[in-house]
Amino acid sequence: MTLIKHIIGGMPSSGSTDHRQDVYNPATGAVVAQVCLGTEAEVTAAVEAAKAAFPAWSATSPAKRAQVMFALREVMKRRADDIARTISAEHGKTHNDALGEVARALEVVEYACGIADKLKGDFSRDVGPGIDTCAERQALGVVAGITPFNFPSMVPLWMIPMALACGNTFILKPSERDPSSANLIHDLFKEAGLPDGVLNVIHGGKAAVDAIIANNDIQAISFVGSTPIAGYIYRNGCAAGKRVQALGGAKNHMVILPDADLDQAADALMGAGFGSAGERCMAISVAVPVGDETADRLVEKLTPRVRALKIGPPSDPEAEMGPVISAEARERIENLISSGAKEGAEILVDGRGLELQGYEGGFWVGGTLLDRVSPDMTVYKQEIFGPVLSVLRAESYDYAVALINRHQYGNGTAIFTRDGDAARDFAKRIQVGMVGINVPIPVPVGTHSFGGWKSSIFGAHGIYGPEAVHFYTRLKTVTSRWPAGIRAGAEFTFPTMG
Ligand code: NAD
Repeated sequence: MTLIKHIIGGMPSSGSTDHRQDVYNPATGAVVAQVCLGTEAEVTAAVEAAKAAFPAWSATSPAKRAQVMFALREVMKRRADDIARTISAEHGKTHNDALGEVARALEVVEYACGIADKLKGDFSRDVGPGIDTCAERQALGVVAGITPFNFPSMVPLWMIPMALACGNTFILKPSERDPSSANLIHDLFKEAGLPDGVLNVIHGGKAAVDAIIANNDIQAISFVGSTPIAGYIYRNGCAAGKRVQALGGAKNHMVILPDADLDQAADALMGAGFGSAGERCMAISVAVPVGDETADRLVEKLTPRVRALKIGPPSDPEAEMGPVISAEARERIENLISSGAKEGAEILVDGRGLELQGYEGGFWVGGTLLDRVSPDMTVYKQEIFGPVLSVLRAESYDYAVALINRHQYGNGTAIFTRDGDAARDFAKRIQVGMVGINVPIPVPVGTHSFGGWKSSIFGAHGIYGPEAVHFYTRLKTVTSRWPAGIRAGAEFTFPTMG
């Protein structure tokens, strides 16, 4: 049985305890490996390694640090298939979907290649007699990232390239459910020339996370995962004096106006609702057609397509979606579908109880379509994180906007329409962080930053892009007077530079 170990100071380590957890192939339900579960001892060792690596790494010029990112880009492009296979083996997503994850991660690596430009600072000459001011951004020190199962490669790479390019050293605590991608990321960085100890991987669950929060040498935490844990990490991380960004869960609505191209909208809903079995924080889980006629036409288009979804293991090149991550996730999703039925939703396509020949032990849930969902139903209020699309019929555009603005989550949303006025109004009024106009999954490209609103995020910074430079550095402003011989005498009033 493969044992997935921590990586501390460039060396694999099985840690100080025999705490282990099974890792599954979700398509077969078989245990494929065990992962070591870190405790305070492993976190401390990783922090010591990261602290030891920090002086040399932060003193390396930004251009040289960028060289590692340029090399990483080449390594990742060459090994994209290996990375995708590693993702799919423990996550279950299709190979093409995993390749998409790698492509989006590469955008962040490419942005980090330009770090020398992003760190170059500001300078003002003669702000007073002989006085100049310069502002620079310096690395924080040792920082940590805690990541979810659903993008085991992309989400760590939302964090690590920019954190390292800014001069920090890093502790990654990936999801214990699909941990192999984290070790592969470490190995890719090593192949790209990253010195040992700059990036360390500690596996585990709550004990490892709590040790990260408690460790006084960790300056900042980036977290991506569910909202309850995001809140927990934000509150406790801030109380421990750390800088924290914590991205949480989602419930993303897509509004379909009567003038929309309904074929285009149906295509968008199929991909955004069922791609990756709905296990994306930017998945569309609620379709909001405006008017009953729009709803009837949309549902007529969606029903046969949801029924015909091709579901299979990552090895099946025809598969449009794979299994969900675990038996517990399947049970939770099926229970939510049942609650929808009990509370009055109409099940047009029922994915409960799906079995696949040859893969009887896999964690399968079929595509599910619910109609006449209402805002008071559990299936609407909670994040499902599975292949379930709810149709909530809106009587008007204003009702749709108010509905979305009332929801606790505000990660992503979309509107499909041909009406520019409505689209513009939507973009302005909607209380959501990432908005698509005829774009169902508006994940910003790597030159912008990613982040939701409301309980989809805790903290002031979005992730990757320009926000990452601010999150992973702190500002230093130096005011200097030359020549040193100028004698101004003691000033007891507040200095005005005059
Ligand atoms: P999760 O919150 O269960 O786990 C995320 C991380 O937190 C993991 O590393 C896990 O080990 C750790 N963790 C879990 N329970 C903990 C506890 N009690 N105390 C301390 N740490 C704990 O999330 P998940 O199931 O892995 O991922 C799915 C969730 O992530 C969904 O809610 C999804 O919307 C969200 N997500 C959000 C974004 C975003 O950008 N907003 C992106 C991807 C996923």
